[in-house]
Amino acid sequence: MTVLPTSLGRIAVVLNLLTYVLIRWPHGNRWKTVTVADDRQGRLEFALLVGATLGTTMIPLTWVVLAFPSFANYPLHPIVFGAGVVFAVLGNWVFYRTHADLGLNWSVTLQLRDGHELVTNGIYRRIRHPMYLAMFLQGIGQALFLPNWIAGPAWLMSFGLLYLLRVGKEERMMQDQFGDEYTAYMKQSGRLLPPLKKPDDQ
Ligand code: SAH
Repeated sequence: MTVLPTSLGRIAVVLNLLTYVLIRWPHGNRWKTVTVADDRQGRLEFALLVGATLGTTMIPLTWVVLAFPSFANYPLHPIVFGAGVVFAVLGNWVFYRTHADLGLNWSVTLQLRDGHELVTNGIYRRIRHPMYLAMFLQGIGQALFLPNWIAGPAWLMSFGLLYLLRVGKEERMMQDQFGDEYTAYMKQSGRLLPPLKKPDDQ
């Protein structure tokens, strides 16, 4: 079977990260203007964020720029590469939608901002954590198009750990802030995928 040049994997990593940054950039500047009202970022959350930055960005970029760790490289097959690109494009599209729908109601960590509103429309209507879904899709994409056993799965592993240890705390924070409104929202939505039951069936 044909093997693709590793440089294609490098291009995919850079384009994926660039798209991520370009989607987040304009929002990043707007969010800075809104004061944080409730900050629940503990030491664990901080460490998880550092880990996720290493896994999603630093380790893949080290592989792109320094070709390290080359001993863990493997051949890049066209179907695996193509599937990775499809996942990444889908992930970036969902990522774009979440930023458009959340508006100013966002933080990179466990925080609520002044005048924070609960968003339950758009892509949030039936999924509570579509931004995390987007990160998983991008992570699966990277694991497929980056042909290295260490740098490839680094995004998925580091973000997966952040997600597992954060999502419960985030939902508790939202529940404390929005009470019954959030309870009702939890009934109509699933964490990463829409619930099988339609809200009308309940
Ligand atoms: N978990 C969401 C948002 C990730 S960003 C997702 O995956 O799409 C994390 C921050 O977003 C949280 O700290 C909280 O401030 C905010 N947030 C999460 N869900 C929200 C919602 N439905 N409406 C408004 N803000 C939300």
